[in-house]
Amino acid sequence: MKTRFTEAFGIEHPIIQGGMQWVGRAELIAAVANAGALGCLTALTQPSPEDLTKEIARVRDMTDKPFAVNFTILPTLKPVPYDEYMDAIIQSGVKIVETAGNNPKDHMPKLKAAGIKVIHKCTSVRHALSAERHGVDAISIDGFECAGHPGEDDTPGLILIPRAADQLEIPIIASGGFADGRGLAAALALGADGINMGTRFMATKEAPVHENIKKRMVEADELQTTLILRSLRNTSRMFTNEVSQKVVAMEAEGKGIEEIGPVASGQKGRLVYETGDENAGVWSAGMCIGLINDIPSVEELVTRIVKEAEDLINERFKKIVA
Ligand code: NAD
Repeated sequence: MKTRFTEAFGIEHPIIQGGMQWVGRAELIAAVANAGALGCLTALTQPSPEDLTKEIARVRDMTDKPFAVNFTILPTLKPVPYDEYMDAIIQSGVKIVETAGNNPKDHMPKLKAAGIKVIHKCTSVRHALSAERHGVDAISIDGFECAGHPGEDDTPGLILIPRAADQLEIPIIASGGFADGRGLAAALALGADGINMGTRFMATKEAPVHENIKKRMVEADELQTTLILRSLRNTSRMFTNEVSQKVVAMEAEGKGIEEIGPVASGQKGRLVYETGDENAGVWSAGMCIGLINDIPSVEELVTRIVKEAEDLINERFKKIVA
């Protein structure tokens, strides 16, 4: 498949593994790159900019293909030295950065001066247009179905993707709700140049996620996600577990971030992936969890998605119009 995204970014398949806190580590990113898709190492998963530099080097030990680093700017419980993380990315010679969470404008001069291509992930057409004006090279447009932060507009991909395709000049990656070749073919039909998947890549052999959690993802259906932090206008879609339910209850009681923060903290969520205890903290999951039925290798997953989409376009669609 050739799209504006594969051509501009030099990636074989129109598939991105988007930034995932705690999951976007070297082993997964290298496996995605070696499968011909674009993996995003998640900067803030690393405890310091120095650790990020080492993790980037670990990716390079495992692949010579292109990969990206995700740089998310959202409220955090502890201050993050964003400029130092950005310097670590630039000094490591990374060629592609995925920005998310907030307007990337303050970082664009440095990124552009370093010749880095930027994919900005956002959840509304107005934010996408603003990022385009600030010089990003592609937009990942993230529908309400997505894991993590869907924004506050609640616009599903079926509307958001063609709206973005109508308005933007630069390549568009459809994000949120994608897990198989049907999704890829649909995204291309809606005007996108590729898909971004997070949750689907969590349930792969190479993802650094405890086996119990991968199995839980296979069992779960699309109803098992919960929106937390709505009351703080920092909505986040998480797996429905004891902790996400507790956060929703605390919000209903009018509690603020001082009390909610320790319960919803990412450090506790990290324990879920490490220990396999699904109730150790909150952990992200998109609605596409209902479409996940197995735990393939990354290579098997990427190959299968591309083939399924190609077969749909070449066979099913052709028969329908024949
Ligand atoms: P954290 O432990 O600092 O915070 C936990 C949650 O509370 C996060 O969702 C955070 O956005 C939210 N939060 C913190 N302070 C807040 C405030 N003052 N007001 C409203 N909400 C607040 O976060 P973490 O798990 O260590 O993650 C680090 C960063 O990465 C966060 O910004 C998080 O949202 C983001 N993140 C990114 C991805 C991704 O895919 N790139 C996925 C999950 C989380």
